[in-house]
Amino acid sequence: MQPAHLYQAPPDLLAGRNILVTGAGDGIGRAATLAFAAHGATVVLLGRTQAKLDAVYDEIVANGGAEPVIQLLDLKSAGDESYRALNEAIVDTLGCLHGVLHNAALLGPRTPLEQYPTAKWLEVMAVNLSAPFALTKALMPALRLAPEASIVFSSSSVGRRGRAYWGAYAVSKFGIEGLSQVLADELVNTSAIRVNCINPGATNTAMRREAYPAEAPASNPQPAQIMAAYLYLMGPASSGVTGCSLDAQGG
Ligand code: NDP
Repeated sequence: MQPAHLYQAPPDLLAGRNILVTGAGDGIGRAATLAFAAHGATVVLLGRTQAKLDAVYDEIVANGGAEPVIQLLDLKSAGDESYRALNEAIVDTLGCLHGVLHNAALLGPRTPLEQYPTAKWLEVMAVNLSAPFALTKALMPALRLAPEASIVFSSSSVGRRGRAYWGAYAVSKFGIEGLSQVLADELVNTSAIRVNCINPGATNTAMRREAYPAEAPASNPQPAQIMAAYLYLMGPASSGVTGCSLDAQGG
């Protein structure tokens, strides 16, 4: 089988599919949203900054993509009620959901655990781990209505092997790997929903530039250059693949 990061998606890969992306306004989430729309999907753009979501919406429409849906939501404070309302709105307007890319995340402080502010710890955990859990739970009805569906969580190399000073971010990504495995195991024999993690690898985004201020940004690929594995996981080529953690840049 061809590795996911070398997957070549046919132009109509996601035609007729509805896919929600969190953190759709910037970085990797923006690139994934544009890639999914370019391959035929109707995308639900979830994010906290209206102007960024509007810009992605406009770009999709200008490129001839299906009209997207914007969902303004702050994952730090949103709760079960807003997630349930989102599930209902998706079922009412789109019928079902074929995919979710949990992409939004916060880097948080890079500091020893001894000095890590507890309030920041809770904020990073809320956005990076608790929100993907609660949102997934609420969206299960819409996902179960699809003939087959794909849930993709965003991991990181520091979510597989701990590293000094990565604090809540690293621990939240270990949690994401665990959440993905538990959910995959629960759904493998009882549904047509697959659940996987993707580690984008070093990518030239605001988060990477914040984490590595001394690094030349151009030494890492642009988000649009790492989309093959994201398309693979969202499309039917990954049907039956579940409980895995893939690397968008190979390895
Ligand atoms: P960016 O910081 O560039 O983008 C993060 C996105 O998440 C933004 O759209 C941001 O919205 C959104 N977001 C953050 N907080 C919230 C919130 N409270 N509510 C709603 N949306 C929110 O990050 P990347 O694109 O680099 O990262 C994408 C994913 O990839 C993350 O899960 C990250 O951990 C992972 N990753 C990235 C790597 C890299 O090198 N870039 C390496 C390994 C993993 P806004 O723009 O409005 O702030």
